[in-house]
Amino acid sequence: MQTSLPQALLATDAGMQADEILRNCVHCGFCNATCPTYQLTGDELDGPRGRIYQIKQVLEGHQPTVKTRLHLDRCLTCRACETTCPSGVDYHRLLDTGRELVEQAVPRTLPARLLRRALRLILPWPARFTPLLRTGQLFRPVLPAVLKKRIPARQKRKSTQPVQQHARTMLLLDGCVQPALAPQIDAATIRVLDALGIYTQSVTGGGCCGALSHHLNAMEEARGFMRRNIDAWWPAIEQGTEAIVITASGCAPMVKDYGRLLATDTAYADKARRVSELARDVSEIIADEQLTAVIKRPAGKPRIAFHSPCSLQHAQGINGTVEQLLEQAGYELTTVANSHLCCGSAGTYSILQPAMAATLRDNKLGSLQAGQPDMIATANIGCLTHMASHANVPVRHWIELLDAQIQQGDPSGNHHGKR
Ligand code: SF4
Ligand code: SF4
Repeated sequence: MQTSLPQALLATDAGMQADEILRNCVHCGFCNATCPTYQLTGDELDGPRGRIYQIKQVLEGHQPTVKTRLHLDRCLTCRACETTCPSGVDYHRLLDTGRELVEQAVPRTLPARLLRRALRLILPWPARFTPLLRTGQLFRPVLPAVLKKRIPARQKRKSTQPVQQHARTMLLLDGCVQPALAPQIDAATIRVLDALGIYTQSVTGGGCCGALSHHLNAMEEARGFMRRNIDAWWPAIEQGTEAIVITASGCAPMVKDYGRLLATDTAYADKARRVSELARDVSEIIADEQLTAVIKRPAGKPRIAFHSPCSLQHAQGINGTVEQLLEQAGYELTTVANSHLCCGSAGTYSILQPAMAATLRDNKLGSLQAGQPDMIATANIGCLTHMASHANVPVRHWIELLDAQIQQGDPSGNHHGKR
């Protein structure tokens, strides 16, 4: 694609990178075929090719409008278009630049600004989010059904004992909302890694990976979260921790990108690069171990429909790994149509774009439940919560299912209580 960005913009790193990305795009439109929002609206401007063109116009000096912002807001950042693109267009980086420019040029209404601010002030902070969630859960039994569906039932963290000290040690990313919504996921991870001879270490002072602020165009705030995590993790890294274990696939691409996002920060660039080298999705870690040696395979084979989050399959390029692990653990996987499509969770998308998110969720659940599974498994807390509110079968993190096979050989994974 030919471009004519202003020289002043081309003199900046962001401008140069955007120009390079734009030039890679040959405008073929293959990406539209796998874009969930283009499939829903049929509007070229709601597809990746149209969004790239809109961002190009903004970069070239055209004034964006509320309509431009709407089409960029509707993007899920699912990155299915990147997986499909034959030219390797780095769409999400271009989108980051485009969104930042449009956000500045087209201010939002006060209620919209307040909502975004509230999300940034609450969700990444467990000390604020957890009491609010617990209050909602307390009143859940008396709430109308429509509100009840929006507040997940309280989950118990099963004791992580007994875990042993092992020579091999890994560091666990705490994250933001997951410990309050589903503490059993980290507990299961610790037990599975323990069975595999790995001690999982938690440190205080860390927290949100920064993805939430990043997706809400608050880049400096996101960098603050990254630096905070690096400071908290650094002593353990210096002591030789083997990896940073990430159980929410939505956080993993972010931590794997710390090195690039902090590349110009002289105080943190080297440490951020090291953190990114150590960051691994928990599926990558377990795939390298002898899982079958610790599995107590059940007689029956529960049927699982696996939803691979976009952050796992598109952003990290991890395909088939979790499915293989579940099969090794004794589960039977059902066939799922359109498995490349997003479920509509996408960070805060389900709150900011509720209508499209609900349609995508219903379509996804239709595909997942078509094979009549006993349960649905996924790899990201956002997808899990979004789908569980409307699913006909339990929705769990896949690591809980592995844990069930290691601890008790209970194929239902129900030893943590039903959702
Ligand atoms: S992003 Fe890739 S697939 Fe989409 S129009 Fe450009 S070159 Fe084609
Ligand atoms: S990231 Fe997802 S929603 Fe956004 S343009 Fe690409 S495929 Fe479409």
